[in-house]
Amino acid sequence: MNRRSFLTTAAALPAIASIPMAEAKPHEPGRLLAQGRPISVSSGNGIRAVEKAVELLRQGSDPLDAVVAGVNIVESDPEDMSVGYGGLPNERGVVQLDSCVMHGPTHKAGAVACIENIMNPASVALKVCRRTDHVLLVGEGAKQFAIAQGFKEEDLLTEKARKIWLRWKENLNPNDDWLNEDQIIGDAGKLEARAEALGLPFHYGTIHCSGVDAEGNIGSVTTTSGLSYKIPGRVGDSPLIGAGNFCDNAVGAGGSTGRGEAVIQSCGGFQVVQNMANGDDPTEACLKVLKWVADHTRRHDLLNSKGQPNFSLRFYALRKDGAYGGACFRKNANGNKKYFAVHDGEKAYLHECAYLYDD
Ligand code: ASP
Repeated sequence: MNRRSFLTTAAALPAIASIPMAEAKPHEPGRLLAQGRPISVSSGNGIRAVEKAVELLRQGSDPLDAVVAGVNIVESDPEDMSVGYGGLPNERGVVQLDSCVMHGPTHKAGAVACIENIMNPASVALKVCRRTDHVLLVGEGAKQFAIAQGFKEEDLLTEKARKIWLRWKENLNPNDDWLNEDQIIGDAGKLEARAEALGLPFHYGTIHCSGVDAEGNIGSVTTTSGLSYKIPGRVGDSPLIGAGNFCDNAVGAGGSTGRGEAVIQSCGGFQVVQNMANGDDPTEACLKVLKWVADHTRRHDLLNSKGQPNFSLRFYALRKDGAYGGACFRKNANGNKKYFAVHDGEKAYLHECAYLYDD
C-alpha cells in the first residue's frame, strides 16, 4: 500500500492557530487506557467535542451521552456550515439533517434522517436509541417524534447560509443534478464543481465523535447537514449504522466524513471496526477501507487522471484500549495537511491524518 507515515509534527494553520497541534508520536496501544484515562476522537472540526466528551467521561458520564454532548456544541454553532444550525441547505433551500448514535455496552443504535427544523439531530437519534424499539426515523416522522420528546421546532437556515444558497440558486442552469438515463455523471462531482466555479462553499462537512471511558465502554455519533445543495430527501452515510458510524464494545468505533455515497457502498464504519477486530491498528484499519473504496470506484467522473478517487473522504477509528487513528486519501490540493481531533485524556489537539496516496 502506497502511503505516508502519519507521524509528523504539525505546522500551525492560521484558522486554528489557538488549537494545540499534535506533537505526533506513535500510539502505544493500551497505554492510555491502562492509566485509566478516557479518550475521545473526532473529525477535524471536533476539538470542542472531544474536550466536552472527555470532561463528561471524567465525571462518570455514559460514553454515548458524553459524545452526543460534544457534537451538540458544533450542531448549535451557526458558524459551522456543515452541521445542524447554520448548515448549508438542500437545493430547495431547506436544511435537512442526518445523525446516528451507537452505544457500545448495549449495542443499541438510534438515527434520524432528513429531519427538518430541529437543531440537535444527534440528541433526537439518542432518544430514538433509548425510547423506541426502532433504529431509524426519517423526515416528518422524525420531526414529530422529536417534538413529542420536547425538542423545539426552529428555523435552521441562517441569513449567511440563505444568501449562499440564493447565489447558488440564481446560477442554476439546465444541467441539473439528476442522473440522466444514458449518462453516468455524478451528483457530487457536478455539485462540487459548480460550487467551486461560483466561488461558493461546498461541504462534505459533518462531525463524527467517539469516546471510550476508563472501563473500555464505547459510544459513537455522527451528525451532519449532509451534502450541500443536495437533492431533497437525499440521505448520506451519517445516519446509517455501519456506514458513517459503527461501534462494537469488544473492539472499538469507526466513523467517517466526506462523500457519503462512497461510505454507504463500502459499509465504511463497519469495515473500520472489522479491520480492528482482525488485528489492524486503527490507522491501518482506516487506510484499508480507503483502499477498498478506491478499488471499487469505477465511475470515470469520480476518478482523477491517476485513476484515484477525486472526492473527499476520511475515516476515524478509536480502539477499545484507547489507540486511535484517522486517514484520508491525500493532502489538500495546496499541500496542506489534514487533521482529526483527539483528546488523549490529558489534552486535546489536532492530529495529522494518514494518507493513502503520496500526492
Ligand atoms: N458524509 C456526509 C454526507 O454524505 C457529508 C460530509 O461528511 O460532509 O452526507
